[in-house]
Amino acid sequence: MLTQLLTQDEIVQLGRLVGDARRVVLFCHKNPDGDAIGSMAALTLVLRQMGKEVTAIAPNNFPLFLQWIPTAGEVLLGDRQHYKVDTALGQADLVVMLDFNTPMRMTELLANKVLALEVPMLMIDHHIDPSPICRLTLSHPEMCSTCELLLRVMLDMGWTQYLTPEVATAIYAGMMTDTGNFSYASNRPEIYEAIGLLLTTGIDKDRIYRNVFYTHTEGRFRLLGYLLYVKMEVMAELHTALITMTNEERLRFKTKNGATEGFVNMPLEMEGMRLSIFLREDTEEKGLIRVSTRSVDDFPCNELCAQFFNGGGHKNASGGSLRMTMEEAREVVHNALASFADKLRD
Ligand code: 5GP
Ligand code: MN
Repeated sequence: MLTQLLTQDEIVQLGRLVGDARRVVLFCHKNPDGDAIGSMAALTLVLRQMGKEVTAIAPNNFPLFLQWIPTAGEVLLGDRQHYKVDTALGQADLVVMLDFNTPMRMTELLANKVLALEVPMLMIDHHIDPSPICRLTLSHPEMCSTCELLLRVMLDMGWTQYLTPEVATAIYAGMMTDTGNFSYASNRPEIYEAIGLLLTTGIDKDRIYRNVFYTHTEGRFRLLGYLLYVKMEVMAELHTALITMTNEERLRFKTKNGATEGFVNMPLEMEGMRLSIFLREDTEEKGLIRVSTRSVDDFPCNELCAQFFNGGGHKNASGGSLRMTMEEAREVVHNALASFADKLRD
């Protein structure tokens, strides 16, 4: 049973925020993933059915394998379409932040623009420790994805008539991508009740899977082969694998930013692995190393990332960044592993 998730007070407040709004601007985090684009798409379609004008803004571009999501093609890019973004923000009477917990994840530029506005803001998110910057914050870290949370919000608000196949498709895409097709962060029975409900709208979940996961280029496959064969360092006694990738290496295989999505999960497929770390040079900022970590069971990636990589996230999937060379970053990783060795060793 999908029981009521929001408090009575939240239902009243959300009803007022949405009821009073005519022009709504939606934001997701930088380097959008399926949950970010999926939740913006779903809410765009829901609000439009209510007669609202909706503009969805992503801080930067997102991978081709998410472009098929309904309305994804019309998402404005914050780092390119400045005029359109400013126009939408100038007319907005409600700003919604989806799938992130602090305005800096929109980029500093957009965070400054949004925080300067005098319009009510709403946050719908599943990351821990949301910044208290919005009039209403619906934060549920137990949810597998913002998309799952959005579906629950729709149910609690009595918005089920807006759950069209397009909305259900976008929601399913976000739930599926944030859980690696329900292979992690997905033990709650309610997730499967939510999926059941989405399927009753007639969506084709098998096609959604293929649209997202069977769309890779040859370059990505060859880059993956190279990283696994040549670059992966396996520390057997720590049940940990580390992969590093420079921009030069990525470009050698003619792949774009985003092509390495999912690579960090793969070393966990080796028997006994507990932690996988992927370091890659940022595609835009020189001297910035992006860190991705994934774990199984109880290893706290979020604590590791908070302590050593200026980041955070979920227990089994976290990230961060380091301002240094790849060699220095590799050293930070080895120090971090030494510090967490107790939790990694048998
Ligand atoms: P990914 O490895 O896919 O980039 O990120 C996995 C998760 O880690 C994200 O969903 C997000 O929760 C978290 N994350 C990634 N980068 C950062 C960061 O720089 N700071 C914080 N606080 N969390 C991050
Ligand atoms: Mn998410």
